[in-house]
Amino acid sequence: MATAVLPQPVQNLINELARLPGIGPKSAARLTFFLLRDGSNQALELADALRDLKERTRFCSVCFNITENDPCQICDDDERDQELLCVVEEPLDMLALERSRAYNGRYHILHGAISPVEGIGPEDLKVDELIHRVQNGSFRELILATNPTLEGESTALYLKRILAGNDIRITGLARGLSVGGDLEYTDEITLGRALDGRSDL
Ligand SMILES: [Zn+2]
Repeated sequence: MATAVLPQPVQNLINELARLPGIGPKSAARLTFFLLRDGSNQALELADALRDLKERTRFCSVCFNITENDPCQICDDDERDQELLCVVEEPLDMLALERSRAYNGRYHILHGAISPVEGIGPEDLKVDELIHRVQNGSFRELILATNPTLEGESTALYLKRILAGNDIRITGLARGLSVGGDLEYTDEITLGRALDGRSDL
């Protein structure tokens, strides 16, 4: 007697969803059957959104922000302070700083933080690109705005160590941000104050 198996397209989607962070095989199956039974076009809209995500976005070749146009809107904006560079972990942190309206310089997105526990080293982040930018740019100040977490703090210390001696002021956000919290979840007033009150690292 043949064993009943799922049709290949169903099994394929379960397998793909199960590879995403935070989704186990059970959730993957539940989501797959939800999309299968759903009478609307949701599955096709999701497919289009996924395709657009990969085909219509890229990293900015200057700051590594996610963008539709390269260079991104911020790198392309001559009104912004060319000598101020703010280093953040993720694009969402940059958006949080933008919402605070307290910053008018450039950004550099690392795309993560150094974490020995998760096996993430400087070579997995946009660190070489940052060194290159600092050495070849004319920045007067580098603001290390990594998250107030263990990983964020060690990343800032690491960057400070390798970038010291480049004739550039290196600062960090003022304390007062909740420890362990992410910049992206910090309200704009607190973030604005942390920026205004930044000090040498
Ligand atoms: Zn950019």
